[in-house]
Amino acid sequence: MTKSVVIVGGGLIGLATALLLNERGAEVTVVDHAKLGGGAARGNAGFMCTTLLEPLAAPGAFKSALTSLNDPTRALRMHARAIPGMLGWGMHFARSCTNERYNAGRVSLAKLNQRGPEALALLGTLGATVALDGQLVVPFHDPAVAADYLARLTPMADFGVTLPTGLLDGNELRKIVPALTDHITSGYVVPNDRSIDPRVFVDSIIEALRARGVTLIEDAPVISVGHANRRVNSITTAKGTLTFDEIMLSAGAGMRPLGRLFGLRVPIVPGQGYNVGLPVNAGLQNPVIFEEAHAVATPFADRIRLGGTMEFDGDHPRFDQRRVDAILASLRKYLNLEWDGSFDTWSGSRPMSADGLPMMGRPRDFENLILATGHGMFGLSLTPASALALSELIIDGTSSVNLGDFNPDRFRLRK
Ligand SMILES: Cc1cc2nc3c(=O)[nH]c(=O)nc-3n(C[C@H](O)[C@H](O)[C@H](O)COP(=O)(O)OP(=O)(O)OC[C@H]3O[C@@H](n4cnc5c(N)ncnc54)[C@H](O)[C@@H]3O)c2cc1C
Repeated sequence: MTKSVVIVGGGLIGLATALLLNERGAEVTVVDHAKLGGGAARGNAGFMCTTLLEPLAAPGAFKSALTSLNDPTRALRMHARAIPGMLGWGMHFARSCTNERYNAGRVSLAKLNQRGPEALALLGTLGATVALDGQLVVPFHDPAVAADYLARLTPMADFGVTLPTGLLDGNELRKIVPALTDHITSGYVVPNDRSIDPRVFVDSIIEALRARGVTLIEDAPVISVGHANRRVNSITTAKGTLTFDEIMLSAGAGMRPLGRLFGLRVPIVPGQGYNVGLPVNAGLQNPVIFEEAHAVATPFADRIRLGGTMEFDGDHPRFDQRRVDAILASLRKYLNLEWDGSFDTWSGSRPMSADGLPMMGRPRDFENLILATGHGMFGLSLTPASALALSELIIDGTSSVNLGDFNPDRFRLRK
């Protein structure tokens, strides 16, 4: 029997899952409160990582967030006005910032993503544009910091992750990325971490969904929800009422307000990031992450996208130009680029869970509702594997990927 599935939130996770569900024979409707591919779907940095995946909740991160209260330029920034709305989240985050939990989180993400390349290829056969660009380069000013970051990756080899072959010196790195400044002394290349233009990826999925006759509804916020006996029976949106067998909520950083309509307390907070364009440059053809500056640079066909920062400012974060200026200022020490040509500043939010792991699965209070959120800093990288796991869960009732670590019920979800 054909299963009807409504997906609320047509960003990276929702759109990719819709495509795989359609391929498995489901009758799919994607509904978004704004335009499809909104949220962080098109505006992210385009890193498609398999090796560098990690939770934000790392040793030292909580202290760093607290000390940022009075400094608008810190890469990880917490606003005092956001604290009352994220006390529970903050306590869970603080508890997650231990070595043990951080390492366990990295293992969970690596295991989830083991089927990522296969799932990305599958999306490609269904019409998504999935060609990956250059290998990820990670340069440092300080050789000791470079060696430390590389050493932290080593244990991940046990979980199928491909490691960098070793440290390179500044000149070797400049042969790969000529735009790196002379301040760069050490670093490495991560061979299986690449980049993709997220605008092209998202648009190609939307196009494939349209071509397959999937119902796509934009500008249709959910107004009310009909549920009884542990089942959601209908949702009424600004553009009409929908009924379905299954409903998946994948509203990214907007999950908390959406969850309330379903009687759920979904502990996801927006982690705002920024990016800005610079003219393309022959000296920068690979994606680059600057761990010391907590910022990235990704070359696309029409621009270099510089980005970074993680800002907690409540459910409706405000744009702060000082944070863009801070990204530009910090990267001048790492890259020789046309700094006066910046354009197209953007901000958008990552869906941040307190332990840094996605929430994917059926909360115990509902038989036919699936939560799919919390992909944080690596939602693009985790989209193919997550969409595969979610589509299997919806069609087969179980997933070939063990979703135990991502069970939404690890948080208290009742309002
Ligand atoms: C600056 C920045 C850089 C990033 N760089 C990378 C990177 O290089 N690599 C990587 O792997 N990840 C990156 N990410 C993270 C990645 O973009 C996110 O994790 C990912 O977009 C999350 O996917 P999602 O589908 O959950 O949410 P989104 O892709 O944000 O989509 C959410 C969708 O839900 C809709 N929505 C919201 N609220 C509602 C509602 N109430 N009702 C209906 N619809 C709703 C939105 O309009 C949107 O279309 C970055 C994020 C940011 C902000």
